[in-house]
Amino acid sequence: MAAPTVSPPVWTPDQPIVQLIDVHKSFGSFEVLKGVSFDVKKGEVICIIGPSGSGKSTLIRCINALVPVSSGTIRVENIEVADPKLDKLALRRKVGMVFQQYNLFPHKTALQNVMMAPIHVLGQDKREVEERARDLLKKVRLSGKEGSYPGELSGGQQQRVAIARSLAMRPDVMLFDEVTAALDPETVKEVLVTIRELAEEGMTCLLVTHEMNFARDIADHIYFTDRGVIVEHGPPATFFTAASDPRTREFLSQVL
Ligand code: ADP
Ligand code: MG
Repeated sequence: MAAPTVSPPVWTPDQPIVQLIDVHKSFGSFEVLKGVSFDVKKGEVICIIGPSGSGKSTLIRCINALVPVSSGTIRVENIEVADPKLDKLALRRKVGMVFQQYNLFPHKTALQNVMMAPIHVLGQDKREVEERARDLLKKVRLSGKEGSYPGELSGGQQQRVAIARSLAMRPDVMLFDEVTAALDPETVKEVLVTIRELAEEGMTCLLVTHEMNFARDIADHIYFTDRGVIVEHGPPATFFTAASDPRTREFLSQVL
């Protein structure tokens, strides 16, 4: 008997663009995610906050199939991320990810870093890719730095190259995992400005961040995770002023 079809064959924008249903993840006997569920709609900006070690990075890596889930369902549009036959390339074209460590290729210029995936992964035409890469560097306010090597750029500039590099794959969703955590304070703002502009243009964004003011400003919805579960969530207006869970309140009292 054929297995029942669990995913809708065609995704339409009125459906969640990212959907997690009862996601569990264990590393050995250590359960890091203990049943996480939420939906992200197209164009929404979701911030995930919570103490170190609560499973935020694991969660976001599961969405991008960098970490396999132990059980539960993750869908990105109509892609079943936990499907053993997952087409990873199809997923990578939909989901861009930026990490705390920007991991640019040190011996490639900013422009070359942005051009690499579309040329080598997607096999796109070099001239068109270059034109788009220049536009993307302009978008992240790095015009004039096309020929610079990562070592010649500040942390914030490198992180913006990393954002442009992700955008070069034309993702529908962007995941950001503490992308400003390793930056000098003076370069944090320029990266946040770039993310804000993306969000304002309608990019669906999931951000793990410790920048509470930024989260309050930019998020449509905030999730607070602790020890592998979402203990509280809501729009910023209620989340920051009326958190009811004691762990959330304690966390907020330390960071605000
Ligand atoms: P956060 O991003 O909220 O700080 P993480 O998702 O990075 O939390 O980690 C959650 C827990 O899972 C931590 O205790 C961490 O040590 C553990 N962990 C993460 N990745 C692995 C792994 N690959 N193998 C074993 N344990 C891991
Ligand atoms: Mg983390």
